[in-house]
Amino acid sequence: MFELGSQHNNIVSNLLKVVNMPNFTGQEIARITSSETLWDAWSRKIYSVDASNFQIEPMVINYPQNEFDVQHICEYASTRNIPLVCRGGGTGLLGQCLSNGIVLDFVRNMNKILEIGENYVVVEPGITKHVLDLELRKHGKFIPPNPASSNYCTIGGMIANNSSGPYTLGYGSMISYVSGVDTVYSGGVFGYAYDNGRFDTTVKKITDILVPKIGLIKRIYPKVNKNSCGYRLDSIFDEERFHPQRIFLASEGTLGIVTKAKLLTLNIPEFRHLCFLSFPDVEEAARSIPHILKHKPVAVELLDGYSNVKVNPDDNLRKNCTLLVEFHGEIITQLEKRAKNFEIEVSQFAQVLESTTDPASIEKIWRQRKNALNNVLKMTVGSRRPLGIIEDTIVDPSLLAQFVVFLTNLYKKYKVDYVIYGHAGDGNLHTRPIIETGQDFHESLVEEMASNVFKFVISHGGSISAEHGDGLARVKYIPKMYGVDIYRIFVRIKEIFDKKNIMNPGKKVLFEGK
Ligand SMILES: Cc1cc2nc3c(=O)[nH]c(=O)nc-3n(C[C@H](O)[C@H](O)[C@H](O)COP(=O)(O)OP(=O)(O)OC[C@H]3O[C@@H](n4cnc5c(N)ncnc54)[C@H](O)[C@@H]3O)c2cc1C
Repeated sequence: MFELGSQHNNIVSNLLKVVNMPNFTGQEIARITSSETLWDAWSRKIYSVDASNFQIEPMVINYPQNEFDVQHICEYASTRNIPLVCRGGGTGLLGQCLSNGIVLDFVRNMNKILEIGENYVVVEPGITKHVLDLELRKHGKFIPPNPASSNYCTIGGMIANNSSGPYTLGYGSMISYVSGVDTVYSGGVFGYAYDNGRFDTTVKKITDILVPKIGLIKRIYPKVNKNSCGYRLDSIFDEERFHPQRIFLASEGTLGIVTKAKLLTLNIPEFRHLCFLSFPDVEEAARSIPHILKHKPVAVELLDGYSNVKVNPDDNLRKNCTLLVEFHGEIITQLEKRAKNFEIEVSQFAQVLESTTDPASIEKIWRQRKNALNNVLKMTVGSRRPLGIIEDTIVDPSLLAQFVVFLTNLYKKYKVDYVIYGHAGDGNLHTRPIIETGQDFHESLVEEMASNVFKFVISHGGSISAEHGDGLARVKYIPKMYGVDIYRIFVRIKEIFDKKNIMNPGKKVLFEGK
């Protein structure tokens, strides 16, 4: 029932076909919008890649000025059955923003802050997270989800992937901070969904589908700190209220295009304390996590020896693993007391390398963590590559040590080198096998490894994607993650929003369109 392999391969290979009407479509898009449109070979090449291993050449690229440009393009794409994909910073790791149709790049023009309120900000989707952070800081505010790619990634991309980052442990992921969105749907219909009970008629249809299924959804969804796999049906209703906008979180632009978002902001914490710890290896570090969590840190991040260094890692580094543990507080004396207690307990099983409240020292240590994935990607030497299919699993932190043993045994069995780092406090590890992808490379090897890892994660109540999303790489594993009943709901939801399958086809649900 779940064998979607051949369907997945068909859809992906259709996407890989270059559609040969760029001149005509480009001229048409330029005519119906007020914004720049490109379709020359060079631009199409540039937009054929993101931060994944995939490459798909689009037909046309447009830089919308406003929601009316988006509306006109949606109408046009829908009448001609041309795929439409949004693009932010292009930092997605699974091919989410790649398509052979029309690319809407929001970064150039739709990048403004529209309003800053006491505890919220309203923005256009193309604003870069770092630019927004700088502006909010002037008001003493911040939005906690902060991917290591924050210098490039956009709010539109963060909503569509339900992005997180190190502080999700203390503050939650993007899904907790989006209180409303304005959207444009397939066919060019305007939509909206807000926490205050304002939502359009298309979103209303989703309520009708979900209400009778609340019990099933509660039972099936993983009980982990963050999750970007499939659609986040479990987040739409809670004890207090209905959060209609959350249907768009982690939806990878497959349901609607976000043209405006209202985001909640928090006060920047007064004081921070960072402990930098060293462990003999990753397993020991993972074993310590449940003890560390009792002290209520806001971030617990792991770096193995490989992700700690820039290039040409020494094998001995495998014997070393570090954790960054951060605490926040409003009163410095109380914070220091908490940190002292923590240090006394943790020094029984780890070496404390540094313990500081000095902001400059804290930033310096964090820089190493922020550079982890860049360091890992630099391990690509010729055809030897750190491959990214199992790079974002999450399990309950109490199971993390068991997961690390399982994972490292698997890597040993397949005789591959590997790297492990990530958000250990959440139970979310980023791990990549480093594989020779030259002549003797068989894709089935990676598929086999991924199937084994995903089986472990799913059977232990975790998720195959905590924060990076599914994209092209993991779409075929979504039915395995949730089972057929939930997957059928995903397909019904996709049909309601986008029955022609124009919006980012090949992502989230494998659906041919009608
Ligand atoms: C070095 C590096 C470090 C990273 N670290 C982290 C991390 O710590 N935490 C984390 O969560 N992720 C991380 N990521 C992954 C990635 O950066 C995030 O998922 C990011 O939020 C993607 O944003 P983007 O603007 O680049 O989106 P893109 O890659 O451009 O697009 C991502 C998805 O968003 C959709 N989209 C974009 N705009 C809109 C819109 N207006 N409406 C609807 N859909 C839209 C696209 O169609 C696509 O499906 C990292 C990536 C890299 C390369």
